[in-house]
Amino acid sequence: APDSADAVLDGLDPEQREVATALHGPVCVLAGAGTGKTRAITHRIAYGVRAGILQPSSVLAVTFTNRAAGEMRGRLRQLGAAGVQARTFHSAALRQLQYFWPKAIGGAMPRLVDRKVQLVADAAAACRIRLDRGELRDTTGEIEWAKVTQTVPADYGPAAAKAGREAPRDPAEIAQLYAAYEDLKRERGVIDFEDVLLLTVAILQDRHDIAEQVRSQYQHFVVDEYQDVSPLQQRLLELWLGERDNLCVVGDASQTIYSFTGATPDHLLDFRIRHPGATVVKLVRDYRSTPQVVHLANGLLAQARGRAADHRLELISQREPGPEPVYTEYTDEPAEAEGAARRVRELLDSGIPAAEIAVLFRTNSQSETYEQALADAGIPYQLRGAERFFDRPEVRKAGIALRGAARFGGNDSLLDGAVDLPSQVRAVLSGEGWTPEPPAGSGAVRERWESLAALVNLAHDFAAAKPGATLGDLVAELDERANAQHAPTVQGVTLASLHSAKGLEWDVVFLVGVAEGMIPITYARTDEQIEEERRLLYVGVTRAREHLHVSWSLARSPGGRPNRRPSRFLDGLRPGSTGAAGRTAAGGAGGVERGHTSRPGVAAPRRTQRTVARCRVCGRTITDPGEMKLMRCDDCPSDMDEGLYERLREWRAEQA
Ligand code: ATP
Ligand code: MG
Repeated sequence: APDSADAVLDGLDPEQREVATALHGPVCVLAGAGTGKTRAITHRIAYGVRAGILQPSSVLAVTFTNRAAGEMRGRLRQLGAAGVQARTFHSAALRQLQYFWPKAIGGAMPRLVDRKVQLVADAAAACRIRLDRGELRDTTGEIEWAKVTQTVPADYGPAAAKAGREAPRDPAEIAQLYAAYEDLKRERGVIDFEDVLLLTVAILQDRHDIAEQVRSQYQHFVVDEYQDVSPLQQRLLELWLGERDNLCVVGDASQTIYSFTGATPDHLLDFRIRHPGATVVKLVRDYRSTPQVVHLANGLLAQARGRAADHRLELISQREPGPEPVYTEYTDEPAEAEGAARRVRELLDSGIPAAEIAVLFRTNSQSETYEQALADAGIPYQLRGAERFFDRPEVRKAGIALRGAARFGGNDSLLDGAVDLPSQVRAVLSGEGWTPEPPAGSGAVRERWESLAALVNLAHDFAAAKPGATLGDLVAELDERANAQHAPTVQGVTLASLHSAKGLEWDVVFLVGVAEGMIPITYARTDEQIEEERRLLYVGVTRAREHLHVSWSLARSPGGRPNRRPSRFLDGLRPGSTGAAGRTAAGGAGGVERGHTSRPGVAAPRRTQRTVARCRVCGRTITDPGEMKLMRCDDCPSDMDEGLYERLREWRAEQA
């Protein structure tokens, strides 16, 4: 009934309502962080569905991560619009490719390549080109970039020069390697992650019957975070649309943080040119952050340069004033981590829930220090890559084991002697290497243990709520929750990279390591790269609803020579610093605080400085900090979806 649809519009401001009710034709929302873009499109879909204008199954909502997709599905269900497809470009394409492969190409879809970097290394060997590890990684990055920009090997040189790419080797060599890599892939009968999109595009382009079939299913398209769409994703979107233009995109050019992978805000900024009749809506009211946080965000943007910056929109906070951001300088990184942990402890003691606190850093290699400090302070934390609870590899693996046991359990000696549901779950999980006692230490091992412990707790709660429930019932419940992404509460402080914090928000945010060389990161050299680093900091600042702690340290290790200075992006913004215009920032109440140094009298560093990083996809420890540019280990594709996880898991099991 229309009345019930109107209820969905409550809680939207007039501009957001305009977005929500413009259900036909092209719509473009250009707006800054925290202005309710994601909320507006979610309510738009719900409104359309409840008003009977949109068929749930005819809507495809595209989000940036599987986590965001899960969140949107959950929100839509709450708003009474279940059944809408919310996916990443990759996961939508993969589904279509798997479905249409037999018809379009014949046979079964090839395996996805598991060790892409190894394949590039093999290609290099075949070309008799010697690459060191860094060159290998950068070459892989170049091949990925070429593919998402639909650049064939022969065109790589000129295209890379035009895009201002810094090729790790002579561009002719990269082109040769790229061609050899493609050959080798074909020879071995595998496809890579970019191929999923490329092949889907090719099939939709060549096969009108298949394109029509896809188009008849999806009538309405919504894309969140459109500023980070790659040319290849854009092409796919165009093919899905065909001649139609029921497309709603939302984005913030100032939050473009994936252009190193070929993404570009041009599609967002040129939307009106491509779609002359488009409804363009700008949102400037910031509902997320206090005026103090918004002031800093606006200050960062005011110094930005380049095309994205030309389109910046000043944010206007809708919230009550809150505390000034706190700036703290530390002597070294462990001291900074300890300082942050101490403040987190105070906040927790003052009653702020752990789930409302995040510590955000530039590279995953920084996480180890913070994990250690939080663990030392007895503070529970979750290291967040792009995964939600049910997306975590260990939880997926456990889910598969539980499903197997539920199906074949009565044959299975595993469950012998396990009389109640929680014991059965424990028995299955011990088959996966889980122990009732937590492992010593912290880090990824502990985190995996915590995830499985949360599953055991869930089994307890479930059995208590539903006496007599079987393992099969529990598996059904897990599936249901996985679909709705209602994770059992693993309460902990969030540790995340700035990239993976995109779209999220917390009451309290610690931005750590805000020093030259960290942000901007050392390898950001060109003006464009520096601007992207600035945007990354803007993304970080705008994650905070209320409390923002910004810190940096002068040296990496205790006793190390202080050779760092605060990030240039804070110049003119942090208290006491002078900006480009020669003005000195007035600063908040406390000015810049001096953090304590590593404990006086403790001469030797408590922990050896290891460079440890964690793959944002599978969570595995990786040892090459350079890989942090891609934030993932050699084995993992850049974005993951369900099918890929399964394959990766199978492959790992095969190797084991
Ligand atoms: P980002 O650019 O970081 O992705 P966004 O523009 O997508 O941000 P949302 O995440 O949709 O912003 O909204 C930010 C916060 O503001 C959320 O907590 C949301 O619930 C709240 N919010 C948005 N619009 C309104 C509104 N009209 N009234 C009250 N709260 C709102
Ligand atoms: Mg959003």
